[in-house]
Amino acid sequence: MSLLSGKFAIVTGAASPRGLGKATARAFADHGATVAILDLDEGNAKAAAADLGDGHVGIACNVTDKAACEAAAAQLLDTWGRIDVLVNNAGITQPLKIMEIEPGNYDAVLDVNLRGTLYMTQACIPAMRKQKAGSVVNLSSVSAQRGGGIFGGPHYSAAKAGVLGLTKAMARELAPDQVRVNAICPGFIDTDITAGKLTDEMRAQVLAGIPMGRAGTASDVAGCALFLASDLSAYCTGTEVDVNGGSLI
Ligand code: NAD
Repeated sequence: MSLLSGKFAIVTGAASPRGLGKATARAFADHGATVAILDLDEGNAKAAAADLGDGHVGIACNVTDKAACEAAAAQLLDTWGRIDVLVNNAGITQPLKIMEIEPGNYDAVLDVNLRGTLYMTQACIPAMRKQKAGSVVNLSSVSAQRGGGIFGGPHYSAAKAGVLGLTKAMARELAPDQVRVNAICPGFIDTDITAGKLTDEMRAQVLAGIPMGRAGTASDVAGCALFLASDLSAYCTGTEVDVNGGSLI
């Protein structure tokens, strides 16, 4: 079944080889979408797009730069004529405690996770409104819901909680135009963010808190993004979907 046949999708921060964005881009391409991978480095973005097969695009775009977001969306609209799906996946985290957070840390983490989500969405909204169709998927985190985790400091929790607020407010405002906005809250997922950063003992401790007894995979998250991007979720907007193996039960 090709859930995104004929659709055009942007995934930000999707050049990281083991990342959630790359797995999402792969799932979208496998389901018939033409995908644009946006990331900081042009070479990495183009290489990641080439991995997906012919016709996909890689563009350098720092999502904290509003003009760069607008330029990327304009370039894609020029080629594609429409934008059906936007996944705001680009994110950074820093394992800091409250008193360790300097102004620069706070700015950096809020800028990429929260400001970038706003800027990239603003760049795509005019096209989606005109089409009277579109799906925006924002990456939040279990850190927003339960206050921190091993990898993210309080500033990361604040940024990802902000993403949830932004998701709901944008969903409400855009619903009359049939543009849907939803969030995914991944739990502990094996990616480069988490790889090799835990001792065996710490990993066992984390897994003990997950009822399903395993870490998530990038494809677990990609499957959820595919659902939210496609018409399978046609009547879902303003929702947050947990992909966490039951961590909040
Ligand atoms: P990752 O570090 O593997 O990938 C993040 C990507 O974002 C990288 O390719 C990086 O180059 C890109 N990026 C960073 N700053 C950018 C910017 N300013 N503009 C454009 N691109 C930028 O991360 P991941 O583990 O795949 O996480 C993806 C998303 O999921 C993030 O938003 C993260 O906060 C969220 N998340 C991850 C986990 C997890 O366990 N891995 C859990 C919850 C939420």
